[in-house]
Amino acid sequence: MNPYSILAMRRAFKLVKKRQEENIHKIPDLQERLLRLKKVREESVGNLELMKKTVENLEDKGFNVVFAKDGEEAIEVILKEVEGEELVVKSKSNVSKEIKLTERLESVGIDVVETDIGDRLLQLLKEEPSHPTAPAAHLSLEQIIKGLKERFNVELSSTDDVVRFLLKDIKKSIEVANVGITGANAISAEGSVLILHNEGNIFEILRRQRKWIILSGIDKLYPTLDDALNAVRIQTFFATGQVVPTFIEIVSGTSKTADIEKKLFEGVHDPKEVTLILLDNRRSYLINNGFKEMFYCISCGNCVIHCPAYNTFGNEYKGGRLALLSALYNGTSNLKLCLGCGKCKENCPLGLDIPGMIAKVRGGSEIYNLVYSHLKWLIRSVYLETLAFYMSLKKFS
Ligand code: SF4
Ligand code: SF4
Repeated sequence: MNPYSILAMRRAFKLVKKRQEENIHKIPDLQERLLRLKKVREESVGNLELMKKTVENLEDKGFNVVFAKDGEEAIEVILKEVEGEELVVKSKSNVSKEIKLTERLESVGIDVVETDIGDRLLQLLKEEPSHPTAPAAHLSLEQIIKGLKERFNVELSSTDDVVRFLLKDIKKSIEVANVGITGANAISAEGSVLILHNEGNIFEILRRQRKWIILSGIDKLYPTLDDALNAVRIQTFFATGQVVPTFIEIVSGTSKTADIEKKLFEGVHDPKEVTLILLDNRRSYLINNGFKEMFYCISCGNCVIHCPAYNTFGNEYKGGRLALLSALYNGTSNLKLCLGCGKCKENCPLGLDIPGMIAKVRGGSEIYNLVYSHLKWLIRSVYLETLAFYMSLKKFS
């Protein structure tokens, strides 16, 4: 990530922190909610009984539930589900990134169009995401306008122009796609899938004519709808600073009616089918081998926002829990850069001990690791601060 992107990302993160400070008083029972969430996560993650009950209830309500032991199996299922299609539309799903779904579908000639503004922007500009819920936080408006002009020769001059340009492009694909793919924010054992969104695109995706495919890790389960709602509210606040998201979809099966002679008719409105893929991909192994706590995570990204190493090195160090996850899954995160400062734990709504788990994974002498990371951080910080100062002078000259 270039230094200008890191400075843009810091500005975006500051706005989220400010919004959190301004709004925290609007959730007077936040502490109680957090305690309840932690307890529920401790009891739910890795709970096979809960899994059984969830699958039974979802299947009863018309979901087609499929387990995938790894990314390969999940891709195989999806390829069968989308057979004959040349295009699928998709919305935010960290699991799809985990299994590199877009690359795999595109390698067999299926066009995958992201429908969140930030994700589509990254897709068009061929950029990496910088935050689990704010993927384009590292791009300034100036960089975005320049990037789109270079690729599409369009003259845009404001946020309004950029959003309209991207929306037109996204809508074109939504109108003709038969299959939509999303992630899930939470799954209730009572038989519902919950999805948060602010942009309204999920309405369109989950009503594609042929099929809606939901891709989720096995770690997203909650015993009740109330618990799942509590989790998504907390996720919203820590991810964006908003008290409630604009939309929460609670989907409990395909559409149905019993208006004619009280006989049940399923699939009144689209989609006709909903497939939920529950991905393990080493989660069970990690849960049973010392990393259960890591899966209590609700993917709010607050640890990333507050991670000084991420705010300095960007994607060279993924930040907070993402750094740990990336190291455990593909060894791509440079865990040596972790400062052991504990800011991720301090700012995690669940107080997850990310620094403790990082120290366990990175091995070697912790004193050596800390001296190394602090020296690298110091040198890079001085450079970034100098650059920020120079940019502010340029702005006023
Ligand atoms: S302990 Fe490591 S991961 Fe956590 S905030 Fe500090 S630098 Fe980031
Ligand atoms: S580790 Fe904590 S702060 Fe980080 S994404 Fe998960 S819940 Fe949020």
